[in-house]
Amino acid sequence: MNRKPIAIVGAGPTGATLGLLLAERGLPVVVIEASRNFRRVFRGEGLMPSGLEALGQMGLSQLVEQVPNQTIGSWEFVIEGRSIFSVDEPMGNDMPCTLVAQPQLLEAVIDRAKALPNFRFISGETVQSLITEDNRVSGCTLSNGETIQTALVIGCDGRSSMIRKLSGLTLNEEAKPFNVVWFKLPDTDLIPQSNPFTIFVKGDAVFSLFRSSEGLIQVGWSVQNEDWKSVTDWSQTLAEASPPWLAAYFRTQEVVETIPDRPLCLTVTVGHAPQWSTPGCLLLGDAAHPMSPIRAQGINMALRDAIVATNYLVKAWRSAEDQSLITIFDRALLQIQTDRHPEIRQIQSLQAQEAADGMKLHRSAALRNLVRTLAPIVGIALREKWKLRQRKLRSGTTIVRLTV
Ligand SMILES: Cc1cc2nc3c(=O)[nH]c(=O)nc-3n(C[C@H](O)[C@H](O)[C@H](O)COP(=O)(O)OP(=O)(O)OC[C@H]3O[C@@H](n4cnc5c(N)ncnc54)[C@H](O)[C@@H]3O)c2cc1C
Repeated sequence: MNRKPIAIVGAGPTGATLGLLLAERGLPVVVIEASRNFRRVFRGEGLMPSGLEALGQMGLSQLVEQVPNQTIGSWEFVIEGRSIFSVDEPMGNDMPCTLVAQPQLLEAVIDRAKALPNFRFISGETVQSLITEDNRVSGCTLSNGETIQTALVIGCDGRSSMIRKLSGLTLNEEAKPFNVVWFKLPDTDLIPQSNPFTIFVKGDAVFSLFRSSEGLIQVGWSVQNEDWKSVTDWSQTLAEASPPWLAAYFRTQEVVETIPDRPLCLTVTVGHAPQWSTPGCLLLGDAAHPMSPIRAQGINMALRDAIVATNYLVKAWRSAEDQSLITIFDRALLQIQTDRHPEIRQIQSLQAQEAADGMKLHRSAALRNLVRTLAPIVGIALREKWKLRQRKLRSGTTIVRLTV
């Protein structure tokens, strides 16, 4: 059968893996990626057991081992300079949380797909408009003027999704966007090779620190707009919020000179599209549900979206005659959202709870000092409460299996 392709817009974790899975199962796929290479700035690379397991189901575990990666050894909470509790990885799972270099991983995934005759990759072009016939999306036009007639357009184009806007789908944004100052610094022996992910809360500062996949020190600093405006010397501010051993690192010339001005503060919108699809067009990954960076969830959810979408789309493809494909596809789009939406909302709610706990500490010096003083007593209870919440954040809230 000579059928029109599925156009996947965006080769982030969602689009690259979905493109590979569909092409491996014989569907004609074209992936369109705006950037020319995979060296663009990636915001996150933490994979939880749920994401690593999803990559395993896709047959990509070996690729993960071949690209730069680092495991997390433990989670440590330091409040007002005192260690409150610590939890070792892998916390009852088979695999520890692992930082995996996204550029290399995505490039390897796309390279694998490129070997398939029914896969086409277009890079350095954006999708600029959708073509609609009889109230159904039937194609898209690229920035180079090329028009592609499609069986389906899948917007995997991230949190500011152009496909979402072009298709008229909406986003329910969470009330308050998340502000994060996200940057990398030179490696240091002060961070043990076991690579603890440490969260520091002191005064107005809440930040985390760990060694990234390529061995640099990643800082994630959660800031309120008003607090960020008053930061004139970022390294000094972090030094003041750090225990003495770490403060010395932030004051070294090498660290200060890494970012001469100020690191970039990202405003991250979090939310979900109440409706993920319209006839002929589906949103997945951050395009459907932009995730907060808290506890490394977005890539994991993206990979799980790709698996569920593959199950439904391949079944639809195999069962349909030429004429009925469109109807069967459009029905599948609704089923994909029905399957995925509950987990996404639960995970976003757990992320919000983590943020709210951090905010309570951030706002109240009395609470921070109480927790600090009573650390030997309250530390155990806080640790157990935190661990309980991590179960779902690490493994997901539902079973996701690749069945086709
Ligand atoms: C600071 C920060 C840290 C994070 N840390 C983590 C973490 O450690 N672990 C984790 O799991 N998640 C993390 N996240 C969330 C994670 O980055 C996202 O949830 C995840 O990348 C979503 O994947 P995606 O493929 O849906 O979208 P994206 O990764 O955003 O990919 C979208 C792709 O679409 C392309 N594109 C956009 N528009 C067009 C267009 N019109 N035409 C063609 N191509 C287009 C883009 O170039 C891009 O390649 C973090 C987020 C932030 C902001």
